[in-house]
Amino acid sequence: MPTTTADYVELEDRYGAHNYHPLDVVITKGEGVWVWDVDGKKYMDCLAAYSAVNQGHCHPRIVQALVDQSSKMALTSRAFRNDQLGLFYKQLTEMTGFSRTLPMNTGAEAVETAIKAARKWAYTVKGVPYNQAEILVFSQNFHGRTTTIVGFSSDQQYRSGFGPFAPGFTLLEYGDIEAVREAMNPNVAAVLIEPIQGEGGIIIPPDGYLSEIASLCKEHRALLMMDEIQSGLGRTGKMFAYEYENIRPDVLILGKALSGGLYPVSVMLADDEVMDVFQPGDHGSTYGGNPVAAAVGRAALDVLVDEGLVENSLAQGEYLMERLGALDSDLIQEIRGRGLWVGIELRPEAGGARRFCEALQREGLLCKETHEHVIRIAPPLVINREELDWAIDKVIGVLSGERELQATT
Ligand SMILES: *Cc1c(COP(=O)(O)O)cnc(C)c1O
Repeated sequence: MPTTTADYVELEDRYGAHNYHPLDVVITKGEGVWVWDVDGKKYMDCLAAYSAVNQGHCHPRIVQALVDQSSKMALTSRAFRNDQLGLFYKQLTEMTGFSRTLPMNTGAEAVETAIKAARKWAYTVKGVPYNQAEILVFSQNFHGRTTTIVGFSSDQQYRSGFGPFAPGFTLLEYGDIEAVREAMNPNVAAVLIEPIQGEGGIIIPPDGYLSEIASLCKEHRALLMMDEIQSGLGRTGKMFAYEYENIRPDVLILGKALSGGLYPVSVMLADDEVMDVFQPGDHGSTYGGNPVAAAVGRAALDVLVDEGLVENSLAQGEYLMERLGALDSDLIQEIRGRGLWVGIELRPEAGGARRFCEALQREGLLCKETHEHVIRIAPPLVINREELDWAIDKVIGVLSGERELQATT
């Protein structure tokens, strides 16, 4: 029987595929913003499973919903109806204003669903010639890992060796509105965009960029499809990041925190004109919209609202930026963020973000570098001021060199 961190690491490395490069911390328990490893060491989780656990680890209300529903009725398949799904749809409609929901499981599946919707809408409603639909996408995008999605990634590692790829995507520079204007043509079915690029390194586009895209979409009759799988559900200090520009997309894609980390739940939301393109048999998923997913999803949304997590994200996020802004270090290129979602971009001379993440791990704070030079700080939204101060002290300590960095690479 494995007992130590080394034992578990060895087990995983010996029998698992090596498609991740995780920090060597083996987590066995979690509660709120805290997790514990198999050696009994306690850490603050400042990654929050890429924003899937905005509600904090093992939130008792969501756990209860999972336990209750899974012991009563877990999976019906969509060949039959279940008594949870309609309630989940209604709650999402009341919360977002979109008239219809299509449920899937993972984020990538919901993105694929949106791509299908956009194409079929283009042919059957907009009148684009068959097989000519174009979808505009952006550099540094992250929308998941299916073969279609990695085919339009600008990250060579995500693509390399996995082609041939699906055609029909045009890659544009993120943040450049002129590029969108020039790319618009009658065959454009949709623009697929993250309002802030999380995996790209917490990249916030210029003010007005998203609202200009929204008006270009209107002008050229293309759908604006927002991937808010990571940015949505409170992460940025608003329920949805697009609210910062007072716009409304035609298609909204959610996942991750939609279940508070308890279960894979994703959805594509849209109004009738778009959703009506799907006829029975056009699209589906065995697990999509199952009763457990629906019950867990409802509890996860209730927790966000009832506990004021969006407001907390805004308030604590402002405080986080304020304190980090006072940090004077030659290592830092830029600090950017919105809500409890902050990227600390290090200068190349700093030697990469990973060794800082490893130093923070030794200090009891877990986070993950993204794109080599960015330390991403994204704790669960249930974090309180005292816990946040603790985390900021650790980050400042490591970045100002008070605590020695152990060379690991
Ligand atoms: C995580 C993520 C996805 C993919 O979700 P999976 O559940 O991992 O398939 C898609 N888009 C964005 C913006 C994400 O952060």
